[in-house]
Amino acid sequence: MRLSGKTAVITGAAGDLGRALTRRFVGEGAAGLVLSDVDPDALAAAALAVQGSGAKISALVADVTDRDAVNAVVELAVAEHGVLDVMVNNAGVLGTTARLHRQAPEEWRRVLDINFFGTLHGVESALRVMRRQRNGSIVNTASVAGLTSWAFAAPYGVSKAAVIQLTKLAAVEYAEERVRVNCVCPGVFPSAIHAGNGADAMTAMAVRHPLGLGTVDDVTGAYVHLASDESGWTTGSVLTVDGGCSAL
Ligand code: NAD
Repeated sequence: MRLSGKTAVITGAAGDLGRALTRRFVGEGAAGLVLSDVDPDALAAAALAVQGSGAKISALVADVTDRDAVNAVVELAVAEHGVLDVMVNNAGVLGTTARLHRQAPEEWRRVLDINFFGTLHGVESALRVMRRQRNGSIVNTASVAGLTSWAFAAPYGVSKAAVIQLTKLAAVEYAEERVRVNCVCPGVFPSAIHAGNGADAMTAMAVRHPLGLGTVDDVTGAYVHLASDESGWTTGSVLTVDGGCSAL
């Protein structure tokens, strides 16, 4: 029960990793979760799946590119629980996998808007509450694609590198106010984000992971660690959970 009594917001909560994080946070004793996603039907189903689990579950549809909408999600957590202990910025898209010179400017902007600005909105909203509390843990979802150069979706890699740097900058800037900011860099695990990738692409990615491709459940423990008090002296960390991918 490493998250006993904690209140958390999870964005991208209707996705594969988001749903696994929700299950894991509930299992670790979280008292309250506010789940958010841009997909209303999938969000309702994700929330329903954990109703009656012991944690108070709320859900609010929000597009992370909309700063006010993300702020409303954080405010809902505060209204319902009086506190926000953990903010998990997890919403993301892969974008097209065309070669760099074939990526349209609109696609660069779309991917950066969701992956980078979406995370920035979550960080800003959580900071407003956590600075006041002088306590809180922000966990951003980056990727090995932000650390390595083999990945085949350039806007995605650049957006995740920006998330990593945002994490470090915010960690240093707000340490004095006791807000911790860390990120997880997962390697590749099968999920809806890879729906457009064929079996050949997944096999090519598996080769880049000495331990093979992961699963969502391989990744969630890192979030629990960074969300919990056991990581109380950890901030600005870039935690790879990637089957050895970034060590190759
Ligand atoms: P997923 O597609 O199952 O989940 C992504 C979720 O984000 C979806 O529910 C989607 O509706 C939501 N989303 C997309 N755009 C949004 C927006 N504008 N506003 C709010 N929500 C939005 O994929 P996943 O694999 O669970 O991805 C979760 C996170 O993990 C992403 O940030 C992704 O980049 C990251 N990640 C995934 C992998 C992988 O191999 N699957 C590896 C490294 C990092």
